[in-house]
Order: sequence, then C-alpha cells, then structure tokens
Amino acid sequence: MNTAQCRTLWTGILNKLEPLLQRSMLITWFKDTAVLGMDEGKLIIGLPLPMFLNWHMQHYKEQTLRAAKELDPAIEQIMYHVDLSLREDETRVVDLLVLFPEKKGRKLPNKPEIKIGEGLRSKMLNPRYTMDTFVVGPSNRLAHAASQAVAAQPGGKYNPLFIYGGVGLGKTHLLQAVGNALLQSNPQATVLYTTSEEFTNQVIEALQARKMDTLRRRYRQVDMLIVDDIQFFASKERTQEEFFHTFNTLFEARKQVVVSSDRPPQELHNLLQDRLRSRFEKGMIADVALPDYETRLAILMERAKEYEIFFDHKVLAFVAEHVTDSVRSLEGILMQAVAQYELEQRIPTVNSMAEIMCKLSRDPMKNEEDEKMIGFESPARHAPRFEDVLNGVSAYYSISIQDITGTSRHREILVPRQIAMYLGKKYLRMSLSQLGERFSGRDHSTVIHSIRKIEQQMKDDPMLLREIRAIEKEVGVD
Ligand code: ADP
Ligand code: MG
Repeated sequence: MNTAQCRTLWTGILNKLEPLLQRSMLITWFKDTAVLGMDEGKLIIGLPLPMFLNWHMQHYKEQTLRAAKELDPAIEQIMYHVDLSLREDETRVVDLLVLFPEKKGRKLPNKPEIKIGEGLRSKMLNPRYTMDTFVVGPSNRLAHAASQAVAAQPGGKYNPLFIYGGVGLGKTHLLQAVGNALLQSNPQATVLYTTSEEFTNQVIEALQARKMDTLRRRYRQVDMLIVDDIQFFASKERTQEEFFHTFNTLFEARKQVVVSSDRPPQELHNLLQDRLRSRFEKGMIADVALPDYETRLAILMERAKEYEIFFDHKVLAFVAEHVTDSVRSLEGILMQAVAQYELEQRIPTVNSMAEIMCKLSRDPMKNEEDEKMIGFESPARHAPRFEDVLNGVSAYYSISIQDITGTSRHREILVPRQIAMYLGKKYLRMSLSQLGERFSGRDHSTVIHSIRKIEQQMKDDPMLLREIRAIEKEVGVD
C-alpha cells in the first residue's frame, strides 16, 4: 500500500470509530496515528508514543479490527508499531480536527436556561461541566456510566444516584454534567443544582421568614434535584428533615435525585439520619477514585485544548507522571503554566513545569535538600504532621479543631479526640506527654488510656475501624 492508500484506509476506519467513541477520547488517543502498511493480512498501525500502546491494546484494538475488516475483509489482525516521527509527519497522519470538526450545537449555550420556580435559588450549572469534557478512565468509569444513564432516563432505575470520592476528583463536574445533559435533551426540564450548604441556608431563611411551605412547594416541583457534598448536612437535623421529605416526594413522583459526598453512604452513619442514609443505600452508588496515569494525561490534554497554547506532549506527560493526588492539582499546574505564558511569554517546558510543581508543593516542614527535588508529592508521601491528623479528624466528623483538642466531654467529641490521639501516636514521632501537651495539657496517662480504649473498640466495632481507615486515607498515611 502506498501512503495515499494508507491514509484513505485509516480515514475510513476513523470514520467508523468516531460514533463509537467520545470525541475527547478520539482526539486524544488517535492524534498522530496512521496506517503504516499491510503485511499478509496484518494491518500495521503506527502510534506516536509508547504510552499509546497499552491504551490501544486494551481499549481500541477490537473495535479497530472490526472497523478495518468491514472495509477490507482481507485484514485479519492488527499490529501496533510505535513511531515517534509520526508526530511531525503530516503526510501519513490524518488531522482529526479537520476530519471531525466540532459539531455546532454540541456545546451548551453559555447561559443554560434553568427553569426554576419563582424565588428558588439555584447555583447555576457551569456549561463547561459536560459529559463531553469529562475524561473517562478506570477510576471513574462506573460513575460516568451511571451519570449518563441517569441523564438519559431520569427517575429510572438509578434513582437516587449517589456519587462519592475525594476532593477534586470530578464529583461536581459529573453532577453538573448530568444536569446539563438532561437540559440539552429536554430543554423544558426543571433541573435544580445546589450544594448542601446552600440548601441549609435556604431552609434557615425560610424558617425565619415563615415561608417553609413556599420553599417546599418549589423544591418539590423539579424534575431533577442535584445536591452536592451532602456530608455537610452533618448535625443539621432540621435541614435533613426537610431534605428527607423533599426526597420522598420527588422519589415517589419518579423524579431524579442525584447527590455527592466525600464518602460512601455507609460511612455517613453518624452524620446523616439513618432513614436518609438508607434511602441512599438503596439507590445507585458509584465512586470516583484517583485517576491512573493514562487518564491523568488524557485530562491534561483535554484541558490544554481550551487554552491557545501549544503544550508539548512531553511536557504534559511529565506533569501526568508526577502529579497524582487530584485532578484539581493537575489543573492548577496547567493554569499556572498558562499564566506564565501570558504574563512572561514563557513557553511551557518540562523544567518550567517542574518549577511550578515545586512551588505549589512546597511544604514548610521539608528541608532545603528536598525542595531541590523535582516532583510533586502526593500527600500520601509526606510524613504527616500533627496538624494533618487534626485536620483529617476535624473534617471527617465536622467538628472544630478547638473542640478536638479542648476539654468538652461530649461523646460526639470524645471519640474523635481519642481517635486523633490514637493516630497521633501511630504516625507521628511524638511522645505521649508531647501529645498530651497538644490536647490542652493532658498528662501521658490520660493519653495512653484514650489510645487503649480506641484500640479495644476497633476490635469490636467494624464501623469504627472503617471510619479510622477513612481518616487515615484522608491524612495520607494508609
Ligand atoms: P470534586 O467535586 O470531586 O471535588 P470537581 O468536579 O470540582 O471535583 O473537579 C475538579 C476539577 O477537575 C474540575 O475543574 C473538573 O472539571 C476537573 N476534572 C475532574 N475529573 C475530571 C475528568 N475525569 N475529566 C475532566 N476533568 C475532570
Ligand atoms: Mg465538588
């Protein structure tokens, strides 16, 4: 086959693959690819980078073979060949952006019309958060699939949909994408996106103004209610009560409810009323986890497209390799690079990225020597500090650090305090008296007593054990 024939065949194959793949994935993974030739029924496909190889083998090989066979039944097998020169070879590769121009009307209009009842506040849906701009990988595949199903058939079998995961892993993006997708297919639908804090404020205001009925009526008219970060409903009994009834009304009317949280429903047991929690447990539950290398790179590529700067593949690959803790950090670094470019005309290079990463990850506890190292450490690789433990416990139980280290004897505070001591002993190089010192000057025997108590309870109470594991994860020591 000559070059022109290779190109024609590859264009045909790409045309067959296009409807099967998400646009962002297609652009990311088929950029600078080509048909290199054919050898006795083996079609040889060129990939521009070694890292494409695994991804293609795992995700696209079968589909590609099927498409190729439809065009030429003589093709029996696919072989991949990595050829770095493809990236500069315009004669062999097909320009995907020309072949598949962005379809008009595919992106949402800048101002999504959100029909909400009079007086009802909704945090606006962000038009950038769509299914199209969400990069799918093993870490979020289920959550993404469930979200798509819900957008296609709200109030169907995945009701409620519960998405959970750590900070910056795409929960808000997915939640809003569900709302955006529904509005796109059904502009008449009433979608309401809110956060648990916003909902709480509205309940408080309505109570004060004696307008609870109005609020209720309005909330219960929506087709889809999306509530982000429901862990902040913790200890807000009245709000939970309202939410529970709204939930039931919507559920019975076959309206969709979508919520997110930083932990699964089972772990919300002392933050949410049981009856609310058990509603969530009966719905569809999916998590978003830390993305793997390929997904991180794909996300970077997707985001880089939004800026009018050329990011060399090497540069993005370097960032994807070193920044592992959240998608938000990846974006933060990209944005810094864009700022450097715009303000100082500095082209992003591996070195400039390394500098940004060092700056952003600088930790006052680290010594000079460490700072010279290139890289962006995930929290898990830092030695935890006392503050990290306190922050972890405080965030998990939604109680203040003052309370944890203070003197209150309330059970809700006592147990988290004992857990903080236990974790302090386990992970920090602090003596019992030093630890006691940080907890309002308690002596070492009080500390040891608390720690033993937690150790004992962990053996008998799997729920407590799970909570502690979750906090350890949060603190980055597991
Ligand atoms: P969370 O709500 O879980 O804290 P966000 O949804 O706010 O996280 O995500 C943080 C940022 O990372 C957002 O800008 C979001 O668009 C981006 N992001 C997260 N996951 C993905 C993904 N899989 N694909 C594309 N962008 C993502
Ligand atoms: Mg969020």
